[in-house]
Amino acid sequence: MSQNRNEVQIMFVGYSRPDSNDSNAIRANCTSTLIRTRNGRNIIVDTLTAWDGERLKEVLQNVYGLQPEDIHVVVCTHGHSDHIGCNYLFREAQWHIVGACVSNRDKYLNSYLTRAETQPFQLCGDDVTVVRTPGHTLSCVSVLVRDPTQGRIVGICGDLFERVEDIADPSIWLEAGSEDPTSQRRQRLRMAELCNYIVPGHGQGFYITDKMRELLRQQLDA
Ligand SMILES: [Zn+2]
Repeated sequence: MSQNRNEVQIMFVGYSRPDSNDSNAIRANCTSTLIRTRNGRNIIVDTLTAWDGERLKEVLQNVYGLQPEDIHVVVCTHGHSDHIGCNYLFREAQWHIVGACVSNRDKYLNSYLTRAETQPFQLCGDDVTVVRTPGHTLSCVSVLVRDPTQGRIVGICGDLFERVEDIADPSIWLEAGSEDPTSQRRQRLRMAELCNYIVPGHGQGFYITDKMRELLRQQLDA
């Protein structure tokens, strides 16, 4: 079914918190997002853990009327287990993109890996693109969804942002693990300057304000 707009639907709101029974553990699962493009493509971003297949299928079917084979592309913002777990459901998809790695079955695209981080990988012309945003892992990517009718850009950024609170309190994203904090600071500001709305890796989506951009700029300069 095609529509006039590129829609971004958060299917599951992720979380990460200390495990109440085990001081050496945390509990976490990712925010999982569905993009429905105006030309009828369905793209899933981040697929929960391998134990979530049944409930993911249920939501796709009951809320969106979609079967796993209706998903055209799978994007995982990075390769951690709670972002890739249900990729196996989507074997009809043209591409499985895990971080900067693009594949289908045993076929792996060479070109994308060698491109500069600012070079986008198009999933639906310029409407939906994948860009490298290294930091949390060096292979991390974000998905940018443009709404041509309103000129707005949504960034589905994975763990570049853990949740909205990490803008005022950077210890949240630093403690979640960062392979390159300097790059992550730079990419956080870059995405905030580009986007109107951000879907983080483990929380609700949020609108970006000028105050947030200013905070991110100060954190980069510090
Ligand atoms: Zn994560």
